[in-house]
Amino acid sequence: MNSKKEKLDFYLKEFMQLEKKFHGDPSNSLTLNFNKHKGHLVIAGLIHGNETGSLPAVLKCIKKLLDKDLSYGGKVTFLLGNIEAAQKDLRYIESDLNRSFGESYKGEFSNERKRAIELMPLLKSADVFIDLHQTIMPSLKPFYIFEMNHDSYHWARALGGASTLVTRKKGASFSQVGMCSDEYVRSLNKVGITLELGEQGFSESAEILAFSVLKRALNCMDKVFKSGIPIEKLSRKNSDFEFLTISHREPFDSPKKCLNTGFRNFHKLSKNMIVGADEKQNPLECPRDGYILFPKYPIRNSLGEASLPLPGEIYVIAEPTLIHPLNWLKT
Ligand SMILES: [Zn+2]
Repeated sequence: MNSKKEKLDFYLKEFMQLEKKFHGDPSNSLTLNFNKHKGHLVIAGLIHGNETGSLPAVLKCIKKLLDKDLSYGGKVTFLLGNIEAAQKDLRYIESDLNRSFGESYKGEFSNERKRAIELMPLLKSADVFIDLHQTIMPSLKPFYIFEMNHDSYHWARALGGASTLVTRKKGASFSQVGMCSDEYVRSLNKVGITLELGEQGFSESAEILAFSVLKRALNCMDKVFKSGIPIEKLSRKNSDFEFLTISHREPFDSPKKCLNTGFRNFHKLSKNMIVGADEKQNPLECPRDGYILFPKYPIRNSLGEASLPLPGEIYVIAEPTLIHPLNWLKT
C-alpha cells in the first residue's frame, strides 16, 4: 500500500465489510452494543473528507472490540462523515459538513447539509461524541478545540492525547452559517469534543494518537456509566491543559493577500512581525503576540491570486487565556 488512494480504498473497504454485519443508522456508520450499561459513545472520522488520519485507528478499535482484545460494556458507534469527499481528496464537495449541523442552519441545501440531517438523530443519541480532525498544514502539536463546557472539558482532560485546548466563551459561535458537529451535540447538553490530530492525511503519529484516545474513551465510558465514577475524578488524574483562545482573525479579503511560506500551527508570532503581504503587496503585520493557527496556502494563479471562494481567514492568532476558562462559566 503505497499511495494514499490505495490506503484509503483499503480502509474504506474494510469499514464497508464490517458495516454490513454491524450497520448503524444512517449509512456509513457501524454500531457495536455490549449491553452492560446504557452509555453511548459516538466517534466521527472523515467529517472533512481529506482528514483521513483517524481511519486506521477507527478500524483497529473496531477489530479489537470484536476480538475482545479491548473490553467495553456499552454502545459505541463509529461514523464516517464524508466518504465521497474523501475519495476525491477534498475537504467537502459542496459545502463544509462541519458547518452544516443544527436546526437553524442558514446555508444552501447541499449534499453536506443532507448528510448532517441524516447524522443528527445519531448525534442526539450520543452521551459522548468525539470528532477526529486534522489541520491543513503541519502542527507542532495535537490539540483539542471546542467551546468551554464543564463536562466536555473534563472528558477531554480525562482522554489525554493533547496538552493544549483551544477554547472560547459560550455563545461565541465558531461559524455563522451552521453548527459544527461537536457544537450541535453540546447544544443538546451532551459531551462534544473535537481533537485535531496533526497534519491531514495518513500518518503513524495520527494513528497512534487517535487509537490511544479511543481506547481511553471506551475505558472512561465504562467507569462513568457502569461504575458511576464522576468524570471530574478521572480528569484530575491528568495534568491540566494549556488554554488558548483566538484573539485575532486575519480576514482573507483579497485574492492577492498571502502569508510568508513555512508557517505551521503553533509557530510563535510577535506584534509587528511581518507575516506576509496584503493585496497591494505591502507588508502584512501581525497585530498581536501569540501563536499562529490555521495558516492558509491556497493554490494561486500566475498573478499570485488565490482561487475563489477564499476561506474566511488567512490565519488566526491564539493567545493564552488570562484566567482558567472554567471561571468563564461562573457568570
Ligand atoms: Zn477538519
